[in-house]
Amino acid sequence: MSVKSLKDLPVEVGVVYEGERIRGPDMYIELGGPKSDYKFELALVKDEKDVEDGKVSVVGKDIGDFDEGSRVPFGVLIEVYGKEIEKDLEGILERRVHDFINYIHGMMHLNQRYDIWCRVSKDAKSSGLKLEDVGAALILLYKQEYSFIDKIQITLITDEQEVKKHREGALKAYEARDERIRGMKDEEVDVFYGCSLCQSFAPNHICIVSPQRISLCGALSWLDCRASAKIDPDGPNFPVEKGECLDEMKGEFSGINEVIEEYSHGSNEKIYMYSMFDYPHTSCGCFEAIAFYLPEVDGIGMVDRNFKGTAVNGLKFSTMAGQTGGGEQSVGFLGFGVLWMQSDKFFKADGGWNRIVWMPSYLKEKAKDHIPGDVYDKIPTEKEITEIGDLKNYLQEKNHPVVARWVEEEEVEEEKEESIPAYEAGEVPVVTAPAMTVPGGGGIKLILINAKIYADKVIIKKVE
Ligand code: SF4
Repeated sequence: MSVKSLKDLPVEVGVVYEGERIRGPDMYIELGGPKSDYKFELALVKDEKDVEDGKVSVVGKDIGDFDEGSRVPFGVLIEVYGKEIEKDLEGILERRVHDFINYIHGMMHLNQRYDIWCRVSKDAKSSGLKLEDVGAALILLYKQEYSFIDKIQITLITDEQEVKKHREGALKAYEARDERIRGMKDEEVDVFYGCSLCQSFAPNHICIVSPQRISLCGALSWLDCRASAKIDPDGPNFPVEKGECLDEMKGEFSGINEVIEEYSHGSNEKIYMYSMFDYPHTSCGCFEAIAFYLPEVDGIGMVDRNFKGTAVNGLKFSTMAGQTGGGEQSVGFLGFGVLWMQSDKFFKADGGWNRIVWMPSYLKEKAKDHIPGDVYDKIPTEKEITEIGDLKNYLQEKNHPVVARWVEEEEVEEEKEESIPAYEAGEVPVVTAPAMTVPGGGGIKLILINAKIYADKVIIKKVE
């Protein structure tokens, strides 16, 4: 490797550039991302003889060889050797690509594993940034951060066939990693793990990772976080004592609440691990999938990043991602890692699979073995239902379990109505809502959960 220091690179590299966004007009090239079918990043622990320390290989065209505005397949392969490195660390080493690429001025990295999305800015390209420099920066950053890495080599791939070929192996490696955590229960451990890696994008967000609730990005399991916290105690992963269980159903723990308050800088006082209502887990922006509440049927819909169409609520994934991310608690929207679907803690407090009323067919197929048999055929996908107006009838026809909730609600409503005193004409009580001021005249967001509003007419006027 000819590059001995980060200062030798054509662009600056440092933590100060983490969080830099590269918008469309500033972009020279997109590597991976939603328009590319093939992309991956993978870290592998190898034997000493299989790693040539400092070697960077570029397979395919380099940044400057593509036309401006190109969107191309992309693969990142990190191979490491170290006497102390165990295979358990692959997941955590792989996840660090996220912040290390973001350290490079003029580069942006989003998402994880099979779904990476990178951009190179026009300025970085003009400065002469090449993929070889990106590889060299990664090697220096990895060695700087992890003294236990004795040898490391990086391969960056833009050739479509090669990305496709390596991606197959990567998918198998992810699956093998996920397999290790299956079967473990949250009740069996006293400690969950926190991850603060995404605070550069979402300053009030941390992930709380438990054996049965994988990280939002889907890249870090409880085992990965444990290995990371052990070998790198000052790194982004840290143990969190569960403390007292305050609500078993919702997954509320005193120790988790304390950490949430601390890391959200007082913005959030608590979270429920197994619910999307009231105090949901915050979402950064790296989530693999989004759950969204559908008040029309009192159910939960889901959509993942692979779904290119419009969900049953009329919104695309990208639109909902804007509502969900940023690290705030967004009641009605929740980002999550798709492996959580395999857990019996999946929306446990909200009704679990009995509350799921719509999901993309691809995701449904993926979760097939984990959806109870008596519900599976009752959950529609984009193949059966595309409009929210058709959903209620469909659920009713299929006798989806959520329908029972409507009956219960109607009974409660009837009871309420019976207990409401009757008023003579002209005596109807008037409730006046307090005035709302919108700072700076910006937009306002109203989220109404479990609300039923009856009105003959609603008039919204701009106050001059
Ligand atoms: S999504 Fe969560 S677990 Fe994944 S890198 Fe970000 S903070 Fe860490």
